[in-house]
Amino acid sequence: MESVMPEIGLVVWAEGTAEETLKFVTDFGLRSIQLGVPPTLNCASAVVDWKTALSTSPVIVTSAVCSYAGEDYSDLATVHESVGFTTGRYRAERIARTKEVARFAHELGVRAVSCHIGFIPAERSEPLYGELVALTQEICTDLAANGQDFVLETGQESAKVLLGFLADVGKENLKVNFDPANMVLYGSGDPLEALGLLQSHVLSVHCKDGRSPVPGSGLLGKECALGDGEVDFPGFLKTLKGFNYSGVLTIEREEQDPVQRAADIRTAISRLRQWMA
Ligand code: MG
Repeated sequence: MESVMPEIGLVVWAEGTAEETLKFVTDFGLRSIQLGVPPTLNCASAVVDWKTALSTSPVIVTSAVCSYAGEDYSDLATVHESVGFTTGRYRAERIARTKEVARFAHELGVRAVSCHIGFIPAERSEPLYGELVALTQEICTDLAANGQDFVLETGQESAKVLLGFLADVGKENLKVNFDPANMVLYGSGDPLEALGLLQSHVLSVHCKDGRSPVPGSGLLGKECALGDGEVDFPGFLKTLKGFNYSGVLTIEREEQDPVQRAADIRTAISRLRQWMA
């Protein structure tokens, strides 16, 4: 029997018109995306544009990726403070925004909504741990009514902590988007080992690469083109195959220079194809 190659996809942000965004994707010969929803997107008015564009496009949206106003990834302390739901003053508006993005995604027939919820404390006894459990349950319940999964980006905590957290939340529609580079960028452990531990919860993956942070610098590591960093991608693909992963290999590349970004996406596509061959 001929084995089917996993599909390669791309994370793109809904920054231009839907038509421009989809053309950007199809120009790479791809037809699967995770759609990043920036905090500035007016979901209510954008939904018609996206519905219309998707209805005549070969592109399938596998998830909506939520980001929030005020998030800042410049160093570890700032990530702790500003990303996800860890800081009380952002919490209510971000929970509301997540539900809004979920409704937008639902209108487009998208079955998953993902985000970084922020650093999950390693200790269950920390008040923040219980708060994150409760709000994740609340979001899961809301999304379940839309028939959607709530998907956590990995990497800001160890796989062991995340595994415990998934069990404590105890919701069937809570899943993981496994990003091996985040494990490297945040120094959260070996990505392949983590993938092995989390495998039964993995709904989707990001194909992203990076290098470890300078110890003691307080900074994150550096993202780089796929195959130039510390993630063992042939091993990653083999591990995915080992547990019959049937989702998409979604390339994520956050590079400010658009020319470099496009070149790195092309590199990622061609290397993934080589590694899979
Ligand atoms: Mg990611």
